[in-house]
Formats: sequence, C-alpha cells, structure tokens
Amino acid sequence: MMRIGQGEDLHRVDDGRTLVLGGVIIEEGPGLAGHSDADVLLHAITDAVLGAAALGDIGKHFPPGDPRYAHADSADFLRAALRLAREAGWEVANIDATVRTERPKLAPYIPHMCARIAGIAAIDVGQVSVKAKTSEGLDAVGRGEAMAATAAVLLEPARS
Ligand code: MG
Repeated sequence: MMRIGQGEDLHRVDDGRTLVLGGVIIEEGPGLAGHSDADVLLHAITDAVLGAAALGDIGKHFPPGDPRYAHADSADFLRAALRLAREAGWEVANIDATVRTERPKLAPYIPHMCARIAGIAAIDVGQVSVKAKTSEGLDAVGRGEAMAATAAVLLEPARS
C-alpha cells in the first residue's frame, strides 16, 4: 500500500527579509513575510507529508503564533513531519513540488534545492523534483506580491 499527500502554501513578499526556498538561501531575494523563515516550498512539502500520513497539517503541529517557532528553520518542520510519518510506519517514495514566483529566476537554484531537500529528508536526490513557474503577470504571484508552492509526496511502507 502507498499513500499520497498534497500540500500548498503562499507567503507575501517582504523585501526586508532573506529569501529561503527549499532550505536554500537565495541572496538576490526578494524575501517572504512569515513567522518562521517563511520557506514556502518546505511548508508545502511538510503539509504533503503530513497529509499523506493523515497526521493533520503544519499549523496544527507548529502553530504560527507559537513563540517557539519565531524565525524557525523550516527544515526542522519537515524533519519533524517525516519523523511522525516514520513513527506511523511510512517513508518517502518521492517528492514533486512546484514554486510559483515572478522573480528571481529559480532555474539556477533548483539543483541546490533538490539536494538540500533530499538531505533534510535523508533520501536520494533522484527522489526529489522541484519545478518553477511564473504566473504570467496575473494574480498576487504575477504582480510580485507573493510566492506560492504546491507539493505532492508519495509515502511507502518503511522497510525497517
Ligand atoms: Mg507557510
């Protein structure tokens, strides 16, 4: 038996903050507003993991108003979700995610994001896919006011 989960997230652009996507710092920015490091991609993946395991969502496990998670490293959220999934008998088969933003151009960063996500999840980089799109100038993402991400995660029974 396998389990599939999906996740999505959106964060408002905040030029005063550092952009972190998929656990990778992207110096050219713009940054994103949020209680944690605002890593919209890791948040979507974390929600997909929790969803696949039917373990609730990121807001249930890491409430945004909780001072413990102020400026939190979102890699810790993904690790914690994967630990919960593992305790329930699941491990990741693959992760496929899409980030939507008008800028910066993400193509040069995608290999780094895939490697970083694989490292956080302790899986092979070949099990991780990150894609990037713009919104063609439409909606909040298209106007450069936000970045969004969606993710699908497949879980399979843990082998040991
Ligand atoms: Mg979020």
